[in-house]
Amino acid sequence: MSIEKTEAVVLRAINYRDTSKIVTLYTKRYGKMSAIAKGTRNPKSKFGSLFQPLNYLQIVFYRRENRDIQYVSSGEFLKYFKSLTTDVLRLSIAMSLVEIINRVMHDEEENEPVFNLLVGSLSALDEPGTSPKNVFTYFGLHLADELGFRPNFETCFVCKRQINLEKEKKVYYVVQKGGPICEACFDRIVPTGSDFYLSAPALLALRSFVSLSAGAAAKAEIAMPVQNELSNFVFVYLRRHSDTLQEIKSLAILRSP
Ligand SMILES: [Zn+2]
Repeated sequence: MSIEKTEAVVLRAINYRDTSKIVTLYTKRYGKMSAIAKGTRNPKSKFGSLFQPLNYLQIVFYRRENRDIQYVSSGEFLKYFKSLTTDVLRLSIAMSLVEIINRVMHDEEENEPVFNLLVGSLSALDEPGTSPKNVFTYFGLHLADELGFRPNFETCFVCKRQINLEKEKKVYYVVQKGGPICEACFDRIVPTGSDFYLSAPALLALRSFVSLSAGAAAKAEIAMPVQNELSNFVFVYLRRHSDTLQEIKSLAILRSP
């Protein structure tokens, strides 16, 4: 057994016995893990409020290898996301981010880029003046990239030529293939129910989100109908490419305009 320290985001917390909680944490150094936080429901405990979903903490825990559940001995806030407790849309999207991480990441699999993506996205959601839907779009695109199914927004997936957005006002996106198809190649495929047209402004925004920071993407000025197109695209794309994301209820909010 060793004593370890790491940054962590609380994904889930359930009450355990009279005074404790079992928490699912996404940690910087050890990936996803379950832990018992003893005494956290005791009103006198000073870390009672720490182990709530969305909290970003520094924790100390006793690590035993090959154990399904670890013991957390202490924790402290690294940052408190105040806006996430007062704004319903921001809270819903934040909850969908932690739910997605809980579903797609495996136990004890370190992935620092994904950890940083989660913390960066929660921080951007917490900041006043940012667009919650843009944050979701940013998070989904970069998560897909980290998980190995990065979407292509540049070239026709059949002929590999650059999509010319000055000529094409909308582009047919084939979700399963992870790319758009140009007009010239369109008759070479059989359209399916999960594919759809993206407007040229939506495709341009998706291209730009690939290289922006979370904070800059969150503040990008994009018309609301296009923001809805983007978050809907990411919603459909993630579900098509990940079996574990089929039934996330918290994502339904993104489908409403
Ligand atoms: Zn083509």
